[in-house]
Amino acid sequence: MEAAVKLESKIGLIEKPAGKVVLPLKQHVGGPCKPVVGVGDLVERGQLIAVPEGLGANIHASVKGVVESLDEGSIAIKADADQPEDFVKIKETDDLVEAIKEAGVVGAGGAGFPTGIKLGTKLAGGYVIANAAECEPILDHNILYMEDNADVIVRGVKYVMEVTEAANGIIAIKPKIHNKKAIEALKKACSKEKSVEVKLLPDMYPAGDERVIIRELMGVELKPGQLPLEANAVICNVETMKNIVWAIEDRRPVITKDVTVGGRLKDAKNGKVFFNVPIGTDFETLLDASGGYYGHYGEIVAGGPFTGKKGSEQTSVTKTTGGILVAMPFPNEKRKVGIIACECGAQEERLRQIAEEMGAEVVAEKKCKRMKDDGRGRYRCELPGSCPGQAETVLYLKKHGAEVILTGTCQD
Ligand code: SF4
Repeated sequence: MEAAVKLESKIGLIEKPAGKVVLPLKQHVGGPCKPVVGVGDLVERGQLIAVPEGLGANIHASVKGVVESLDEGSIAIKADADQPEDFVKIKETDDLVEAIKEAGVVGAGGAGFPTGIKLGTKLAGGYVIANAAECEPILDHNILYMEDNADVIVRGVKYVMEVTEAANGIIAIKPKIHNKKAIEALKKACSKEKSVEVKLLPDMYPAGDERVIIRELMGVELKPGQLPLEANAVICNVETMKNIVWAIEDRRPVITKDVTVGGRLKDAKNGKVFFNVPIGTDFETLLDASGGYYGHYGEIVAGGPFTGKKGSEQTSVTKTTGGILVAMPFPNEKRKVGIIACECGAQEERLRQIAEEMGAEVVAEKKCKRMKDDGRGRYRCELPGSCPGQAETVLYLKKHGAEVILTGTCQD
């Protein structure tokens, strides 16, 4: 009998064979973790299997099974046929930050910064913001989760306020129609808490960018490279808040991820959101559970349409995987291409990769004119979301032989 993993989607429970999970040793900002298990070891669901050396976060087994292989990049666990509902709890502690660190919580919205370290600062009188923007198009798991679990997010904000000694809690969400039910649920959950409120972001991309949130909600313009701490605030994605609550209340390690599957699916209407997918599950399992996808496609994207990366059926779900998207076929553009990079969308490397898939030749590259060197060799956007016209840049690229333009910019 094959091992089964229960995947809970908006349309109910779906059983799919998992067989094995492959857990990358680097699922966060920092270096790869060091395994603390060996090949052949029996592991329980929730057992600690790798620890950080320096900046990083604990990694726990997402299934019960046997360690099948182990290399520098990952640990593969062959899952038992019978998977327990329960899990090995993290060690008992009254120290909330310690619990968050033990559970291996990292920013689930994509960045993957270790949350226990992020919350190591005091914000007396400051702000804790739950980022509920779910900014990338198509992705929907955060919004659907909040519709039924708004109270969990409010509790998460309260815990982070307690840890950081902040006085104010905010849940930041876009006002679009699709979010109406989630907004109502959040407002209802906040009505019992004087210090936590729902605030609306502009309905644009990249409203979920931390500097945009601080600008729109607090009126503070952070410079490129500055963190929300400069505005006496800390921002955590809503799924991160959920993981904080689970770590503190249930002593549950981060062993699952919520994921949206979308794009060229045969059954695009149903089953596209999966809650509590075991980390390490391959994309193929979730694509199959979504009804499969059309064979004629461009690539399987890991993440959202703007900032996602090239993935494959064999790519594993990690603590930061938000989307699995099957993209339309690449246009066959065997022409000369100019590219315009954007900090909040696709950058040069990604655009070059797409140009290559199209069979095009990149003849010139420009960054959006708002991207400036932050002094550390990294280009950052001066004013995310206030996107300029790119006519001047387009003329430059044309002058350098570009017949068509490939752009990662958000709004032009
Ligand atoms: S201003 Fe330019 S770099 Fe900044 S978000 Fe807009 S397009 Fe991207």
